[in-house]
Amino acid sequence: MVYRGVSPVLRETMMASTVIVATLVSCLIFTKSVAPYSYLDVFSFGLILLVGNIVYSLRFSYACVSSAASIVIILAFVLPYEPMPVEAKRLAIFTIIAMGIFSLVANYRFELSERTSYLHVLKEKIRAGYYLKDNQKLSQLSITDPLTNLANRRQFDTVLPVRWNEAIDKGTYMGLMVIDIDHFKAYNDFYGHPQGDICLQQVAKAMHDNSRDADLVVRLGGEEFVVLMVNASIEATDVAAERIRASVEALRIPNSGVSHQAYITVSVGVAVLCPTDGLTPTDLLSTADRALYEAKRQGRNVIRVANLAGSSSDDGAAGDLDRLSR
Ligand code: GH3
Ligand code: MG
Ligand code: MG
Repeated sequence: MVYRGVSPVLRETMMASTVIVATLVSCLIFTKSVAPYSYLDVFSFGLILLVGNIVYSLRFSYACVSSAASIVIILAFVLPYEPMPVEAKRLAIFTIIAMGIFSLVANYRFELSERTSYLHVLKEKIRAGYYLKDNQKLSQLSITDPLTNLANRRQFDTVLPVRWNEAIDKGTYMGLMVIDIDHFKAYNDFYGHPQGDICLQQVAKAMHDNSRDADLVVRLGGEEFVVLMVNASIEATDVAAERIRASVEALRIPNSGVSHQAYITVSVGVAVLCPTDGLTPTDLLSTADRALYEAKRQGRNVIRVANLAGSSSDDGAAGDLDRLSR
């Protein structure tokens, strides 16, 4: 019962009461006994206190109460017990009280060190928890762009090869958009760098809000972003790119830095390919980059979709941009 989940108070009370009961029973036995030297038993009663205070290791307060009660019971039986010589009584009582005090001191010291080590363990656990949280926070920070809260280049460099290999295993297509804000230098020059930062944040949010959860939206650096898509198809990627382009245009951020351009827009280069052993993730990036260059050349605020010949069932010569979508 003691070890089967009873409350600490009940457990300690039960344990302490066995000490008192043992004392009481022992006292009854020696007084009721007809053996001539039964009072010699009294010299061993200190052992009952040792059991309670050291073997049981009762909580200190319970140990004090059970020891005091036991000593009172012993005194009540021993003092009026006539067959026992006074010298024997004195020695027996002295021994019992001494054993009680010494074992209580040991009990106190043991409990103190138990409590202290428990607190140390608790402190270490809390500290370890904080370190873990700090570490997680730091790793998250190291892969996040502080201005836009998008993934940063480091995260992209880590994730791209992983998703690439997954796509090889599953035989699925990968899509990549490279997105660049049009005439952003002029915007910066006209409105100032801090306003340029706000614009970057707005554009980043629009891109994030218009991407699927499975897509990785990255600020590659400056005013250049990429969106990495798994399970892609040319059609779906085309639609996704157009959605992002339109969402930035819909922000209606004036760009008076360029006379012929009323609002902030983006150009998007898109590459879709099926990863195979003959290709590398760099091919995906450089293909999308070339598509972006084409989009800029075509007059900006457009998307351009390219795919590598041989990597998809679609037509097109190697490295060629297969079609102009807008
Ligand atoms: P294009 O349409 O050909 O892309 O022209 P652009 O002016 O956007 O291209 P360019 O690469 O010449 O200019 C990019 C500008 O982006 C240069 C710099 O002033 C600005 N820029 C880069 N990083 C940051 C940034 O962190 N904050 C702000 N505010 N501006 C940045
Ligand atoms: Mg640029
Ligand atoms: Mg630009």
